[in-house]
Amino acid sequence: MIALIDADSFFASCELSRKPHLRGKPVMVLGRIGSFVLAKTHEAKFRGVNTVMPYWEAKKNCPEGIFIEGDFRFYTLVSRRLMAILKQWSPVVQVSSIDEAYLDLTGIDQMHRKSFEAIGDAIREEVWQKLGITVTVGISTNKVLAKMACEKKKPNGTVVLPQAQVSKFLEGIEVGDVPGIGRQRQLAVKRYGVQLAQQMRDLPMSIIKNLFGRNGILLWKELRGEYMFKVDASTRIPKQIGRTSSFDQPTQNIKDVEGMAFYHLERSLESLHRHQLAAGELNLYLRDREFKRIYLNHSFAKPTHDFFKLAGALQTLVDKIPKGSWWRSTGILLQKLSSSKIRQLSLFEDVESVVHEEDLNRVKDDLNKRYGQFTLTSGSSLFFKKKNRKKSDDERLGVM
Ligand SMILES: [Mg+2]
Repeated sequence: MIALIDADSFFASCELSRKPHLRGKPVMVLGRIGSFVLAKTHEAKFRGVNTVMPYWEAKKNCPEGIFIEGDFRFYTLVSRRLMAILKQWSPVVQVSSIDEAYLDLTGIDQMHRKSFEAIGDAIREEVWQKLGITVTVGISTNKVLAKMACEKKKPNGTVVLPQAQVSKFLEGIEVGDVPGIGRQRQLAVKRYGVQLAQQMRDLPMSIIKNLFGRNGILLWKELRGEYMFKVDASTRIPKQIGRTSSFDQPTQNIKDVEGMAFYHLERSLESLHRHQLAAGELNLYLRDREFKRIYLNHSFAKPTHDFFKLAGALQTLVDKIPKGSWWRSTGILLQKLSSSKIRQLSLFEDVESVVHEEDLNRVKDDLNKRYGQFTLTSGSSLFFKKKNRKKSDDERLGVM
């Protein structure tokens, strides 16, 4: 039995855990450049706020909302503590993102003399008691089913999906909600009359193979309850880190592309920091309406994990996007990864300037924490602030 433990609205939950007076209020966490919503509480969601929504739009939908600039160092800390708790529950834990992990629970029920449901509840209770955040636990025979069950149960619940109930469960799920089935794949199976996950499970293997290749077969077998994707507890260092997604409809608006690209940068940075890596190269990926791909590339003189350096580079790439095309999807890819623990000094860089830069970052964080965000900001990010600042200059994003 495999469990997926996934924190509910993680960044927002982290903020509520240290500011409990905000519970029950519409709270939104903004990305580092303060321009769009990265996470929101249910109360904000009810008021029509979505993830990746620009700040001005969220503010319009939810004027009474509380906006907080993301504090990613704190979220990483909470994440580490969450994973440490989960590792007490199973020897085989695969950390799959900042707030998600797969646990192999096989035999754990015998060990604790508890049902899987009781184990899920006990994990939720422990995380709540120790960290003040809620998680949802999905348990089934493999990763894909555990993830789908978890998704369906959110927030703050435990769900066990045994083999005997899988077929019934899949009848209630759109095929587009199967992990790994994006818009393109959804359209591909639609030609075979497939709308629901259950119908995809019933397609013959030969069609799946033609459409999606070998990986598609693994996915299809998991939908049928087989265990194909192993829970991998090794901490391998990734060769590259990237994220991509399609727009609801192809867009000509560079602002849409820009917003999505920065969202992907924020999320990719989580992985970069989690693995303690720095990137030597940043790629902006685009695919147009005719499925033609383009890559825009930026190389750094030395690898970096600094958000503002990466964001500055991404902005120069966004500015190079050809005008007038219709874009179907966009993503970013961080490459030439190296450890950020040992810092290589370049030939022309002296030790003092590096130390100085790190001191500066620390002072900046401290001041912003004390006096509100954007009190002190690096020159490279000024252009974001100016662009995002609406009518009045004294309008503050950082309410807290
Ligand atoms: Mg989550």
